Amino acid sequence: MGQSPVSTDVALGEQGKQVGYLRAPASTNSSAWGSVLVPIAVIENGEGPTMLFVGGNHGGEYEGPVALLKLIRELQPEQVRGRVIILPALNLPAVTAGMRLSPLDNKDMNRVFPGRWNGTITEVIAHYIHEEILPLCDAVIDLHSGGASLALMPYISMHYLDDEAQRERTWQAMMAFQSPLALVMKEISGPGLLDYAVENMGKVFLCAEVGGVGMLAPATVNITEVGARNLLKHFGVIEGEPLSRERRGLSPMQLMEIPDADCYQMALSAGIYESFYELGDRVEAGQPLGQIHFVQYPLREAEVMAAKRSGMLVGRRGPGGVAVGDVVGVVAMETGD
Ligand code: CA
Repeated sequence: MGQSPVSTDVALGEQGKQVGYLRAPASTNSSAWGSVLVPIAVIENGEGPTMLFVGGNHGGEYEGPVALLKLIRELQPEQVRGRVIILPALNLPAVTAGMRLSPLDNKDMNRVFPGRWNGTITEVIAHYIHEEILPLCDAVIDLHSGGASLALMPYISMHYLDDEAQRERTWQAMMAFQSPLALVMKEISGPGLLDYAVENMGKVFLCAEVGGVGMLAPATVNITEVGARNLLKHFGVIEGEPLSRERRGLSPMQLMEIPDADCYQMALSAGIYESFYELGDRVEAGQPLGQIHFVQYPLREAEVMAAKRSGMLVGRRGPGGVAVGDVVGVVAMETGD
């Protein structure tokens, strides 16, 4: 394997708070010898676990970056036992552009793991993270939102895991996040996720999906910030007990699951999607979930889509326009136990 061209000005293993960059060379039309500077913070003090918080894996998802920028400024080394690594804008060109994919190579950071040392800029950054950062970590928390195209109920999620010990550690951590919803789920997104890279190393991985439709709201920022601190407390990296929703006068975190692809409702026609339900509503399998209108054919009846699963609508298409293959609804089911 070749040598990564990425370098950094932070020294892992050094005590204290360091804020710097991962520098990845990027030749572009506007910058011959330029670099992408991915911000990184390392806050380290004595012995303890290493936790990695990631924001901006996709651009256009703002809760993670905002919560993590605040955490970088607020967290002091004397409050920490162990090490906190924070990457508030992993796919920096995408975050800067407010787009899901990097405008430099049109790649989705969360589809290219484990990356390539000599690949495109997104692959090169992923490779460095995979080789140099992930092996140091005990737990990785990836902070997402639905981005421009999805509205999601705020949730923390884990995958179905085969290894019992890993599943239990991940489960305990997930329950500490204390968002309105917690999901155990199966993905339909294909390979290359940061999730799988971390899970394959036997570590704890959690994905938060808080916010969406390109917005940033006080409530979703708060859920992300409280959740991140709750996880730091859960792992004993900062002092205190995770702050439960009940202690804040809120309803308990609801636990549900997304066991298969039928929970994701896909548009089979292009048009304007009209959802019959709001997020959080109960839906029944076989009953109409929404319909697609065809604006150039006023006399054509709208195409009604029946829900394939009974449960709660936890996600739906953000923009009104849909193309064939777009996810228009996500239904989570009651857990078996
Ligand atoms: Ca995302």
